[in-house]
Amino acid sequence: MFRPASRRLRPGRRLLAPDVAYGPLGVLTIAAGVFGLSYLAVVLAPPDNGVAAWWPAAGLATIALMWAPRDRRAVVVASVVIMSALANLAVGRPWHVALGYGASNALESAVVAALLTRRGRPRLATLDDLFRLVGATAAGVLVMGVGAGLTQLLADGAGFLVTARTVVASHGAALLLTLPLGMRAPGGTGRAGRLEAAAQLAAVCVAIVVIFRPGQGLPVSFLTMPLLVWGALRFGVKVVSVELIVVALLVTSFSRFDGGPFAAEFGATSTATASLVQAYLVCCALVTLPLAVSIAQRRAALARSEASERLFRQGFRDSLVGMAMLRLCDGAHGPGEEAHAEGGLDVVQLNDVAARMLAGDPAALVGAPWTALLAEPDRHELAARVREMLAGTSEGWHGEVAVATPAGDLWVDVALSPLAASAGENLFVAQMVDVTARRAAEERLTAQAQRDSLTGLANRSRLHGEIDAAVAALPPDEADGGPGVAVLFCDLDDFKDVNDSAGHTEGDRVLVRVAERLRTLLGPDDLAARLGGDEFVVLRRCARDRADVEQLASAVLAGLSAPIVVGGHGFTVGVSIGIAWGGPGASADDLLRDADAAMYAAKAGGKRRAVTFSDEHRARAVRAVRVEAELRRALELGQLEMYLQPVVDLRDGATVAAEALVRWRHPDRGLLEPGAWLDVAEACGLMPELGAWILRRSCELAAAWPQSVAEVTPAVHVNVSARQLEVPGFVADVHRVLAETGLPPARLVLEFTETQLDTVSEALLADLATLRRAGIGLAADDFGTGYSPLTRIIELPISMVKVDQRFVAGMLDDVRSQAIVTTLVRLTDSLGLALVAEGVETQEQAQALQMLGCTAGQGFLWSRPVPADVFHERLRGAVLR
Ligand code: C2E
Ligand code: CA
Ligand code: CA
Repeated sequence: MFRPASRRLRPGRRLLAPDVAYGPLGVLTIAAGVFGLSYLAVVLAPPDNGVAAWWPAAGLATIALMWAPRDRRAVVVASVVIMSALANLAVGRPWHVALGYGASNALESAVVAALLTRRGRPRLATLDDLFRLVGATAAGVLVMGVGAGLTQLLADGAGFLVTARTVVASHGAALLLTLPLGMRAPGGTGRAGRLEAAAQLAAVCVAIVVIFRPGQGLPVSFLTMPLLVWGALRFGVKVVSVELIVVALLVTSFSRFDGGPFAAEFGATSTATASLVQAYLVCCALVTLPLAVSIAQRRAALARSEASERLFRQGFRDSLVGMAMLRLCDGAHGPGEEAHAEGGLDVVQLNDVAARMLAGDPAALVGAPWTALLAEPDRHELAARVREMLAGTSEGWHGEVAVATPAGDLWVDVALSPLAASAGENLFVAQMVDVTARRAAEERLTAQAQRDSLTGLANRSRLHGEIDAAVAALPPDEADGGPGVAVLFCDLDDFKDVNDSAGHTEGDRVLVRVAERLRTLLGPDDLAARLGGDEFVVLRRCARDRADVEQLASAVLAGLSAPIVVGGHGFTVGVSIGIAWGGPGASADDLLRDADAAMYAAKAGGKRRAVTFSDEHRARAVRAVRVEAELRRALELGQLEMYLQPVVDLRDGATVAAEALVRWRHPDRGLLEPGAWLDVAEACGLMPELGAWILRRSCELAAAWPQSVAEVTPAVHVNVSARQLEVPGFVADVHRVLAETGLPPARLVLEFTETQLDTVSEALLADLATLRRAGIGLAADDFGTGYSPLTRIIELPISMVKVDQRFVAGMLDDVRSQAIVTTLVRLTDSLGLALVAEGVETQEQAQALQMLGCTAGQGFLWSRPVPADVFHERLRGAVLR
């Protein structure tokens, strides 16, 4: 509407920019305008009574105020007061009257501007806006009328009413005609061209000239109305407003010089003429403005909805995802489409992507039942969601559905939402993305993640899920006798031997063979899994009864007992099986744990057998949990103590060493021997920590033992658990403890049980050799209980053998025990190893041992294990003696 006057204007400084429009020059221009328009109105007023037909200055002043920044309003008001007063002075009114008019003018503009700018920038876009404009105008002219009337009354002592009425009419007409120019109004000429606008304006002008020309007195002013309505129907509010101003100027001018129907009746000088002009102008404004506004309003609404529809269509057609517009099916499809009838959706329209996705001819797809393409459960789910959306309880649905297309089954990600009711009844939009490839990749990954890579059996994660699913699928509680889920925990016996002797590659091949064999043994509903290492699990999802499971276990035992031939070697790997049985409510964790415990029982019972988890196992497991917790605290709280039992020289009874035996001073249960809890420490992984403490404590004690010049100070025997050797750094730990406690290496003997030494790996053998070279004694404890050949003694870097108690106990009446002791005496003697007989309880045993040539013994005959300080005192006594 307003453009910068010239391109030389500094950028950003537009004429209408507040600092320009309301700067000194701007205010001066406004003032000049107010003066000019006021003067013009006075000039055009009939000279005898001075009543102007309309007062355009009021419009200019109000617009100037409406647009003024807050801090410039006072200046504008002041200039309006001064300029209106000056205009009135100029036409000869006394100064106080002029001032009264000026002040009223300014007050009127202030009131109208305030009312119209109450909600921000004034606008004239709806009929409501127009009502507000009329209302504000009414309020303004009321103020003006009262102000002017009072001014007149004060000056002349009369004329209040007359003045008020004429001023109200002239200002009302002026404000209605001019204010639209200062408001935001839907402009533009719609679809009408400039040519039409020019033609229409010309027609109006010609009509006015014809109707109001001097000498024309026929009362046909209404003939202008159709032409004005033409403008209102075709052009925007602004154009109509400009046109009304032109009309007002022409009609006022002609009437002033005796032209037209209004002057014809009363003569150009009459107040009545002016009133008729005013009535005519107000009439014109009140007919054309509402028309123009309401048409503009409708046009804007239409444009908005067209734009949004265009946007929707564009988005629909060009979308990168499949788009389908769907309509609720009225059930008109063929019979048998029961699911489709309620909540089913038909295709109304679809874009190319969707058509390609559904692999159909777009034309044929239109009208086809869309929901019928979905798989059964999805179809019902969707129908239910559609009903919810129709009921208004849900705003949409999003999910992945399987869609059957002529080109095959797809997975489609669907976002379905209802269209607004205004778009049509029961319409929905579905956005569809083909996610088949992603789903396939996911499924592949899941399958991989669920499989043991070596054997192809299920892995632990899949097994867990399958057990839980099997439990969930069991028929609900039928007391005890019903079917159950059976978990068979199978751990290969002696598989370590295979790895050690043939290497890991061969070992892996054996595992693969084991898996193959397991598969052939299973029923169609069974599942085999590998948990890792040589641990396998067989799951029978629905076992009839326990006998059924035991049969399966026997089959597995038998199946794995036959040798497995790999690379020309035959390996016999037996298996120990733990069976756990679960009814409804059991969990995979529980069943696996129980089966594992039962498997350990099978191992302990001699391997190559199946053991069913029982209450006894459960009790043991419960105890283990409790003991483990207590034991951890015991270590922290220092409840563990080392007891010492002497190893004596059979010939003179002198103490040559002492075995350190751990005890637990339990706060409630008293002094506990290791048999009551050490197995738990082994099983729960506490042994490395516990063993480290034992080693350090034992060395500390031994380092403090009194020394005599004549005799050698006794060595300390420390028992070492297999678990301790599994943690790297054991050798280094031993050296560190010796260094820190100051115990000479020669005074330390580490005891390893024979079974432990049975399975020594190459690395451990090297470690043991290192210790031995450092002067530390190594003893094969409980010798004779294992299955290793006697020659094993030669292969190991040991320095001592401890004959197991059971041979000593049986020695006197069992020839075989005696033979073993005799052999060991000879063997150790010839190899230069020390020999200690354990568990010597009687004098007879001691004598027999001595006769056989054994020189050292340990047992209750000499002393039970005693607290460290008691042992220390005894040593001191012996030294002093
Ligand atoms: P072990 O190494 O064979 O220890 C000898 C066991 O025989 C000790 O039982 C001892 O009290 C007992 N004993 C000694 N003389 C006689 C006797 O004349 N007759 C009979 N019937 N028994 C006798 P204890 O202290 O209950 O220890 C049992 C087992 O616990 C030990 O057998 C050892 O394997 C283990 N153990 C004990 N203390 C420790 C330790 O500090 N560390 C480790 N790793 N194991 C330990
Ligand atoms: Ca021992
Ligand atoms: Ca022993």
